[in-house]
Amino acid sequence: MKQFDCVVVGGGMVGAASALSLAELGLKIAVIERSEPKAYAPEQAFDLRVSAISLASEQLLKQLGAWQQLQQWRSCPYKRLAVWEHEQAYTEFNAEDIAQSHLGHILENRLIQLSLWQQIENHPNIDMFCPESLVSLQQKATHAELTLSSQVIEAKLVIAADGANSQVRKLVNIGTTGWDYAQSAMLINVKTELPQQDITWQQYFQTGPVAMLPMPGSTASLVWYHHKDEITRLAALSNSNLEDEIQQHFPVRLGKVEVVAKAPFPLTRRHANQYVKGRVVLLGDAAHTINPMAGQGVNLGFKDVKALQTVLAEAIGNGESWNSPSVIAKYEQKRRKDNLMMMTTMDALYFSFSHVSPLAKFARNAALSLVNKVPLMKKKALAYACGI
Ligand SMILES: Cc1cc2nc3c(=O)[nH]c(=O)nc-3n(C[C@H](O)[C@H](O)[C@H](O)COP(=O)(O)OP(=O)(O)OC[C@H]3O[C@@H](n4cnc5c(N)ncnc54)[C@H](O)[C@@H]3O)c2cc1C
Repeated sequence: MKQFDCVVVGGGMVGAASALSLAELGLKIAVIERSEPKAYAPEQAFDLRVSAISLASEQLLKQLGAWQQLQQWRSCPYKRLAVWEHEQAYTEFNAEDIAQSHLGHILENRLIQLSLWQQIENHPNIDMFCPESLVSLQQKATHAELTLSSQVIEAKLVIAADGANSQVRKLVNIGTTGWDYAQSAMLINVKTELPQQDITWQQYFQTGPVAMLPMPGSTASLVWYHHKDEITRLAALSNSNLEDEIQQHFPVRLGKVEVVAKAPFPLTRRHANQYVKGRVVLLGDAAHTINPMAGQGVNLGFKDVKALQTVLAEAIGNGESWNSPSVIAKYEQKRRKDNLMMMTTMDALYFSFSHVSPLAKFARNAALSLVNKVPLMKKKALAYACGI
């Protein structure tokens, strides 16, 4: 039976990053992933699944050696971020406000995963099992036993990075609290007539926001949040009919667009009741699924990765047992409050902007104008969003 220090279930962005960060500590790691990401080719169209990657996440990807490859493939930095409901309350943040050259990058999820996989391939401490899936998991006194479809392996610690519907979380009976939002989102890749590559913006409506994330060249990723039924209707339209709807409902600053690809996504909030149970630790979407309105989901997952690496490194440095319950508990202490705060902030935004009363509308626009006018507030809000 093969024995590992840590087995990471799920080789997505968070799982792959955690495998590398734990291997950096000298631990022997296995990654279990059921499907291999498609290799990159420059002629490929942009994927629909993209993420706004914060400065903090960029630091982690640099540390893990993945950043350089991502820059060579494709990425789009942005240095301005705008939010508004009423045009008079238009609020723009600039990288200069926090003395940075940019606020983040828009990157395709698959390319982030692939760039991390490249590093994993070259790492002597990591074994990749793919395609492979977990059948069962048993926690024993000295280790955990993972039955895979082709073999059984052992680990001192199991990292569940298997996404929002985490099988590991279910196998060890960790419950969740949460709900499905009344809104869904549609991701739409477009070619843009106007160049607007240095800004990402979001305008709020009572039915949900519309957002533009810049992509390399004259392309962008649009996100349209609306009631589920309306998103179902929009997703069924032909590309040219959808273009007409976009012209009617997105702000004029978008200009003319040509729809290239589109797909709807449900929106869920879910928070695991505990991040640690015995030898199992939850990371990323397996621990928390957040409304993507402010593009924070994977950024929180990368903060989990960094926090776990930090507590294990401290234990190793102090000569403690790195996988003892008291060490692992520190990971949950570090991350739970921060994740909950971000989830609650997103919900406050979601519910406040869905409110139809004129008083609520006045209050939220006044709040946005205030943030725009008070430099310290603006700086703090921006630093929080960038994860620094
Ligand atoms: C519409 C939308 C827009 C978003 N925009 C942003 C954004 O701008 N910025 C941002 O930070 N976040 C964004 N997010 C959130 C972000 O996509 C997620 O937080 C992120 O994908 C979670 O990464 P993960 O690695 O934890 O999970 P996943 O990406 O779900 O990866 C899980 C991996 O585990 C594998 N797996 C699952 N079960 C098993 C099993 N039993 N055995 C083996 N392998 C398994 C899967 O194949 C997959 O590779 C958005 C989400 C949505 C829905």
